[in-house]
Amino acid sequence: MSTSAVSTETVVDVHTHIYPPAYINYLRSRSTVPYIRQFPEAPNPDQERLVILPSEEDAPSTSRGRPIGKEYWDIDEKLLFMKTHGIDMSIVSLPNPWLDWVPSDEAAATARGVNNDFVEMCQKAPDKIRAFATLPLSAPVEQIVEEIERIAKFEEMRGVIMGTSGIGQGLDDPALDPVWAALEANKKTVFLHPHYGLPNAVYGPRANDYGHVLPLALGFPLETTIAVTRMILSAVFDRYPSLSVLLAHSGGTLPFLAGRIESCIVHDGHMQSDPEIKKRRGIWDILKTNVYLDAVAYGEGALKAAAEASGADRIMFGTDHPFFPPLEADAVEWLSTRRNQELVPKVFENGDVAAVMGGNALKYL
Ligand code: URA
Ligand code: ZN
Repeated sequence: MSTSAVSTETVVDVHTHIYPPAYINYLRSRSTVPYIRQFPEAPNPDQERLVILPSEEDAPSTSRGRPIGKEYWDIDEKLLFMKTHGIDMSIVSLPNPWLDWVPSDEAAATARGVNNDFVEMCQKAPDKIRAFATLPLSAPVEQIVEEIERIAKFEEMRGVIMGTSGIGQGLDDPALDPVWAALEANKKTVFLHPHYGLPNAVYGPRANDYGHVLPLALGFPLETTIAVTRMILSAVFDRYPSLSVLLAHSGGTLPFLAGRIESCIVHDGHMQSDPEIKKRRGIWDILKTNVYLDAVAYGEGALKAAAEASGADRIMFGTDHPFFPPLEADAVEWLSTRRNQELVPKVFENGDVAAVMGGNALKYL
C-alpha cells in the first residue's frame, strides 16, 4: 500500500464492511435469504431489517435479522464512524453472504458491478478508503480468475474477501487451485470471513431464545477455524507458499487450537501413512508466514493467543463495522470498537502497538 499520505501512527481498520447501494436494492427485491424487508410485528416496524444468516431462516419475525440504516451502505457514514473512532484508513469489504447465492450465469457481471462500485467509493476518499474485492464464486473458475486479474489492475484493491464455501465444496477443493494460483501470482491477500456457522441442529431447539449469540459467538469462529484447517490439511500452503490469508476474528479459534491440530496430524495413522506428509509445512510455520490475523478478538486471552501464534508483526486492527452497533439509538461511540482498540495496548508492547493499529496493514496490504 502506498504510504505517501500517511504517517507511521496511522490507524488502519482492515475488517470493516459496506454494501454498495445497488446490492442493497437487490436485497430489497428478494424474499428469501439474503433479503431486506420491514416486519410490521417487529419492535420498530418502519425500520428495515437485513436477514442474511442461515440460522435466521426460522427465527420469529419479531427478531429475525438485524435493524439496518445508512451505516450499511453510505460511505459518508463510514467516514463519520472513522472520524469518531480515530481511524485514518479503512479497507472496506462486502459483508456476507457476498455473491455466494447469485446464479452462476449472473455472477461475473454482478462481481464486476460490485467491484466497480467499491473502486468508486475508494476514489471518493482516496487517502482514507481502500477495498477488498468480491469474487464471483458461483461462476465457472475461468471467470473467477478473470475477475482476479481485472481487479488486480486497480491500486485501490488490496485483496479479496472470501467465505468458507469456496466454489461449493469448501476451501480444500482442488478445483480452487487456479484461484489460489491467480491470487498468489497477483499478490492479493484473501480476507477469509465466516458466514455459514455450524449446522442449525448444533444450536438446539431453544436457539431462537438466544438471538444471534450462538451462531455469531461460536458458529462463526469455528467455521473459520475449520475452513483454514482444511486448507492446511489439503496442502494449499505447500502448493502456493506465497499465498497470504487474513483470518477474520483473530483466526476464530485457530491460535488456541493450533497445537491440538498439529498433535492430531502427527498421531493420525491414516495421514502419516502418506510418505509425502513429512515434507509438508507445519501449522506454526504457516501461521507465521502465510497468515495474518485481525485484532477483532474482544478478549485479552484471545488476542494474546493470536499474538503468540502469528507474531505482533502479523496482527491488524479491525472493527467489523457496521455489525455489533450500540443498541441505544442516540449512542455515538461504538463499544465493540472501543473494546478492541483498548485491548491492543494491554496485550502488545509499546513498540508493537502502532504496528498492530496500522503499521502492519500499511506494510503488508
Ligand atoms: N459480522 C459480520 O461480518 N457479519 C455478520 O453477519 C455478523 C457480524
Ligand atoms: Zn465481518
